[in-house]
Amino acid sequence: MIENLLHTKTGEKKEFFLEINGIERLPVTLIEGKEKGKTLLITSGIHCTEYTGIETAIELAQELKPDQIKGRVILVHPVNRTGFEAGQLNSCVPKDNKNLNRVFPGNRDGSASEQIADYIVTNLHSQADYYIDMHGGNIQEDLTPYVYYVTVTTPEISQKAKEMANRVNVNYKVGSKVGGEGSYNYAGACKIPSILIERGCGGIWTKDDVVLYKEDIKNVMRFLGILEDSIQEIEYKPKRTKQILEIYSSVAGCWYPAKRAGEKVCKGELAGEIKDYFGNIIEKYYFKENGVILFQISSLGIQERQNIITYGQI
Ligand SMILES: [Zn+2]
Repeated sequence: MIENLLHTKTGEKKEFFLEINGIERLPVTLIEGKEKGKTLLITSGIHCTEYTGIETAIELAQELKPDQIKGRVILVHPVNRTGFEAGQLNSCVPKDNKNLNRVFPGNRDGSASEQIADYIVTNLHSQADYYIDMHGGNIQEDLTPYVYYVTVTTPEISQKAKEMANRVNVNYKVGSKVGGEGSYNYAGACKIPSILIERGCGGIWTKDDVVLYKEDIKNVMRFLGILEDSIQEIEYKPKRTKQILEIYSSVAGCWYPAKRAGEKVCKGELAGEIKDYFGNIIEKYYFKENGVILFQISSLGIQERQNIITYGQI
């Protein structure tokens, strides 16, 4: 039955909700192009406070015209709708407080998040020839725009995903070493060329960021031959990070990062300090390699064993 929902007449656009076992309703826009071709799946809001990606998907769903599309586009905007409406600060699914992007491929008989993941794999990944998952920094994160592509897959699929990532207008790309947990990671392991774009952060979205994000998606679509709007696709070739490094807090307290996301760092440089409530330094953190900060915690309050900085070695 869902198969029928995900098709419409050639040259038509359809808006509807997909019901998941009474626990979630996904807003979906389906565009059936002017001629047959490949299917592109675009999801946003798997993390419900990453607003830049969600607003971008909502606007794209309205702006993309079926007569400019070759093939089919399925947009979900947003996936974690219940969390979005509840203003769920940690971006988790409210019913089980789990991070949806850590439970793929999910479980049909599992908790709410696991059922949503299983539904997406079974009914949406299964339709896709290509996949773009739209993210950004969370409310407590400072982030520089970058893109991940899948590598835990065949060399051909990884190469195609890398070529998609090369069409995103950001400074850095990361070859993901994970083959599950995340929606796009699992899709990659199932031989779907997949990328995850990070743009926007801090619980806000701006029109300028949405314009850039829409252009990212359209440029990848032009490269894939799915969007035919007479604009030439551009290859940006973001710099590839050698490895991803994470710094974790060893104590709870007040967090004072030394740098901003997007700044380059040198081996041995101060990354930040945690102080107690009386201004005394409890712990100092240093970078172990030369690199660039992809994202870091921007909130003052920090808990023990929290990922406070993620940086890419360059
Ligand atoms: Zn996210």
